[in-house]
Amino acid sequence: MNFRVGHGYDIHRTVTGRPLVLGGVTFDCDFGLEGHSDADCVTHAICDALLGAAGLPDIGHFFPNTDPAYKNIDSQVLLARVCGELSKRSFAISNIDATVVAEKPKIYPRLTEMKAVLAKSTHVPVANIGLKATTNEGIDDIGRGLAIAAHAVVLIVKA
Ligand SMILES: [Zn+2]
Repeated sequence: MNFRVGHGYDIHRTVTGRPLVLGGVTFDCDFGLEGHSDADCVTHAICDALLGAAGLPDIGHFFPNTDPAYKNIDSQVLLARVCGELSKRSFAISNIDATVVAEKPKIYPRLTEMKAVLAKSTHVPVANIGLKATTNEGIDDIGRGLAIAAHAVVLIVKA
């Protein structure tokens, strides 16, 4: 079996006046994330992990932030397209594991919802999607609430 592992990381600054979208779920929050798309760093980290595992260029190559077509786009659309790029190359996703690093808001109560959205976009069973949330213990800019970051690891298999 041809197993391939991929890693992804993303970070976006927090900003007022935008909705906060993480893992395709909109949080009731007084700030959002700055970015060209919906700035969903969890989904972006997963996209980059998948692309990396397949040996493909990163998310910025496929969906440039200078292209008006991607302005405020729902990142689930991007994730579904990334999965399409993988299946075109006969890759199947074995599992996804991601961690969100955010001081605020409380992510944990909505992890199940986020997993369900990601499962729908990737066609990966919920049981094969790991999702955790942690804070940065008040350290650095993430700890001060100036940004939210996400890490992701995936395993894919070449058919
Ligand atoms: Zn991003």
